[in-house]
Amino acid sequence: MARATIIGSGPNGLAAAVSLARAGYEVRVLEAADTIGGGVRTVENTLPGFRHDVCSAVHPAAFSSPFFRAFGIDERVEWIRPEISYAHPLDGGRAAIAWRDIDRTAAALGEDRDAWLARLRPLARHIDGVVDFTGHQIPRIPRDPITAARYAVRMLDQGTPLSSRAFRTEEAAALLTGVLAHASTPLPSLAGAAAGLLLAALGHAEGWMYPRGGAKRIADALVADLEAHGGTVETGAHVRDLDALDWGDPRRGDLLLLNASPRLALTHPDIPPRYASALRRYRYGPGAAKVDFALDGPVPWANADVAQSPTVHVGGTRDEVRESENAVARGRVSERPYVLTVQPSVFDPTRAPEGKAVLWAYIHVPADSGLDATELITRQIERFAPGFRDRILAHDSVPASAREALNPAEIGGDVYGGAFTMRQAIQRPTLSIAPWRTPMRGVYLASAATPPGPGVNGMSGWLAARTALADAGLPHELDDLFG
Ligand SMILES: Cc1cc2nc3c(=O)[nH]c(=O)nc-3n(C[C@H](O)[C@H](O)[C@H](O)COP(=O)(O)OP(=O)(O)OC[C@H]3O[C@@H](n4cnc5c(N)ncnc54)[C@H](O)[C@@H]3O)c2cc1C
Repeated sequence: MARATIIGSGPNGLAAAVSLARAGYEVRVLEAADTIGGGVRTVENTLPGFRHDVCSAVHPAAFSSPFFRAFGIDERVEWIRPEISYAHPLDGGRAAIAWRDIDRTAAALGEDRDAWLARLRPLARHIDGVVDFTGHQIPRIPRDPITAARYAVRMLDQGTPLSSRAFRTEEAAALLTGVLAHASTPLPSLAGAAAGLLLAALGHAEGWMYPRGGAKRIADALVADLEAHGGTVETGAHVRDLDALDWGDPRRGDLLLLNASPRLALTHPDIPPRYASALRRYRYGPGAAKVDFALDGPVPWANADVAQSPTVHVGGTRDEVRESENAVARGRVSERPYVLTVQPSVFDPTRAPEGKAVLWAYIHVPADSGLDATELITRQIERFAPGFRDRILAHDSVPASAREALNPAEIGGDVYGGAFTMRQAIQRPTLSIAPWRTPMRGVYLASAATPPGPGVNGMSGWLAARTALADAGLPHELDDLFG
């Protein structure tokens, strides 16, 4: 039986592992950390009984991913599907709310009702076309060219200075900007619009769901399937040098898949100089400074609807959010930063002891920043939730500069596996029709540093496995393995 060694147990590593194990490979996953899952881990890092997601917390991308759909993630994990996808508080107790129901959302946006519907309804209605276009590799002939064209037009509308004219109300402008800011790019930008429009459309299609029990449930489901097909995972196994790793013989059909940073490929003894220089040119993005809070009760948001939204974008008006993200691009951190927060315990009592709550929060910061964001984040939340500070029982702060030690794939604290720019959406990490394949025989890249890029979608891992299976002349469609 041919062997497949996978370095890294993130969602992409495990997606590749499950696929190859089902295809008949003897699969071994080597994970540097002491816990499995990479970006899908849940740990008690503040107080006993408070369960915090280490990285990803909300999973619209998992639910809509062709890989996870074929894997049957909806049945293997218990999902919480909130009525509100995301909320955006504003001063004075006001807020803009993105309900899963697009008509309800638009109706509350007053004179921006039609502008909201015109931008997002066609994408939400044809979400499979949007996911197909954004979820594989660009450029690629889309299966639904009309939806792809609509999406491209809206990218121009939201990714250029035209975006400042899209909405008249502060609510609508802030609501959409809060989603576009996920990408950690300057705003407005085409890359920010590309990522944000997909997320906003998913918010009105599938919704922004998350697993009961935490993101770890996704890793648990993948590992259970891997083990059922004979695969194994070793934790505490940091691979620093491919030359020193025994992963088998590529002439026998053995495979090596890197769910690690592409930088690890540079340690392969047979790497061709041209490929090595291309990997060295690949750019990493800003970092994330994250804080987990254990709270004595729910966040006391001034607006009642915000209290019912698991995801809350905290950052004030569109201009404030833009200023915050553009400051990061200039190497600074705004005094009033854009804070991504998730309060999973609103609908998931398993995450904290009775009556208590957990809050997940992070801001974008320049790469390698040692900033402890606790005070900045606390102040911003307090602005829209007076009394928040008094509810904090404990917290755990991880600056961007500390992230790489926790996950070697997060270079400089970059949580997206490489800067998310239009150039690097196409050249990820190299310009190729199959960037998962390396010139080294049997070696493939299987991380968010390959298309389609960041997010818990498993697609980079699946597409790496698919490429390897095709190269080996084996059946390589999702139906062949999961049908
Ligand atoms: C703070 C934060 C918040 C996020 N929020 C969301 C969200 O809400 N929703 C969403 O969809 N996405 C979110 N993301 C992004 C998402 O988590 C990532 O895009 C996704 O996890 C990438 O998956 P991956 O498998 O490519 O890599 P990772 O999940 O990073 O996994 C890589 C794994 O490989 C291991 N590894 C790396 N190098 C080595 C080595 N040399 N030897 C051995 N093991 C190694 C690492 O330890 C890690 O376990 C977030 C990320 C972060 C960090």
